[in-house]
Amino acid sequence: MEEIRTRFAPSPTGPLHMGSVRTALFNYLFARNNGGKFYLRIEDTDKERSLPKWEKDILSSLQWLGLSWDEKTVRQSDRISLYEKQLQLLLEQKKAYHCFCTREELDAQHQSLVSNGEAPRYLGTCRALSQEEQQEKIQRGEKSVIRFIVEEKRLHFHDLIRGKVEFNTALMGDIVIAKDLQTPLYNFVVVVDDHDMDITHVVRGEDHIPNTPKQILIQEALGCKPVLYAHLPLILAEDRTKLSKRHGDNSVTRFRKEGYLPEAILNFLALLGWNPGTDREIFSLEELVKEFSLERIQKGGAMFNIQRLNWVNSSYIRQMSTPNLAKACFPHLREAGLVSDDIQNMEIVEKAVSLYKERLQKLSDISDLADFFFLKKLTYQKEILFWKEASQDETLYSLQKSFELLSSLPESSWNEEVLGDLMLKEAEKEKNRGYLLWPLRVALTGKKASAGPFEVASALGKELTLQRIQEAVDMLQQGGEGE
Ligand code: GLU
Repeated sequence: MEEIRTRFAPSPTGPLHMGSVRTALFNYLFARNNGGKFYLRIEDTDKERSLPKWEKDILSSLQWLGLSWDEKTVRQSDRISLYEKQLQLLLEQKKAYHCFCTREELDAQHQSLVSNGEAPRYLGTCRALSQEEQQEKIQRGEKSVIRFIVEEKRLHFHDLIRGKVEFNTALMGDIVIAKDLQTPLYNFVVVVDDHDMDITHVVRGEDHIPNTPKQILIQEALGCKPVLYAHLPLILAEDRTKLSKRHGDNSVTRFRKEGYLPEAILNFLALLGWNPGTDREIFSLEELVKEFSLERIQKGGAMFNIQRLNWVNSSYIRQMSTPNLAKACFPHLREAGLVSDDIQNMEIVEKAVSLYKERLQKLSDISDLADFFFLKKLTYQKEILFWKEASQDETLYSLQKSFELLSSLPESSWNEEVLGDLMLKEAEKEKNRGYLLWPLRVALTGKKASAGPFEVASALGKELTLQRIQEAVDMLQQGGEGE
């Protein structure tokens, strides 16, 4: 069987976003599942909008995600002479021509077609110019573009996801394939490259379907071997419209910065439009390679649901060992100004992450959840120390009680279990456990919501625990607020 060869062909006109990663992933999975090749092609023919920083962003994001491509990266701006040769060929064979129509002439043509209820398209005015006439105009310095002659016919292709897709090319008019010989445009270069790179399958977003008939006609004109197409379903935002910049920053860099794991991102994106045919939801990249098939891709749009991504991410976080998770969380704590690069910090980070492992949706959550491990002094409104209807005096009494009890506990028995036994015994004497345990927990964390008081006290250690209770007591006695 022929080797399967796919490509991911991003334009470096912005940061790599999640939708594009899904396209890259599906190309990768399909190629690897079939023992084929997966290529990366940087489509930078748009000279104004393509920037080196975006190319860098694409490469580093793909590397971070672990989507490795075969051989060298192909860059279109390095291949201008290849395109020029093919453009010359089409011009010589009279399958393309120089068009000198001005913007105004084109607008007028479009308007008159639209007012007659016809599809706006180029009517081929300059097709009539002989090659000599074209050359003369060029020599006179008249501005032109290169148009490809679109034969009027019914055209169809078999999409591997959607089945038969039909077009009437009469509605297209002759299309511009280059601004000049050195400036070819998207639809043309894609065909030349796919042919030159022996691409067998083009897997891309369904927004490219209107380009497909143009590319098929250009393939036919250049005598290229046809490729097979699979157009992926749209990714929808929660408002059911196509996911785009309007819905916020969907760049890989953003998700990376917030502490989403590469495995989780790939796992989540794999299930946006593809299903494994079972209820299983967690797959490593290797497992995805094994399971993947184009047949299991749906036609309808797939919803980008951030809660789902959070859930997948938290599953991967829970699987990490505490030391690894601490290492992964460290940069986020540093970014939040909570730690600096020293070894002692690392021990506290391990304590903090083992306390919060089950609750992290993304790594950066650690900073808000566990800041109290790292802050010298906590800042909070004294009212949050009060359990339900409890008064200030009752709260003060409760904190003093905790202080007294905990002071008596030797350092050697300072662990969650002993702390729990000791405090619960006392708490049962009150009308409600909250009277004793709520102020304690808030005093230790400065938060209304956190891990439980015994877990926190055990992780903070005796000294800091007593210090925090004392600070809360002082605050209530002074009648003031935390700073
Ligand atoms: N450069 C195109 C894009 O970024 C991809 C074209 C293709 O896959 O054929 O959308």
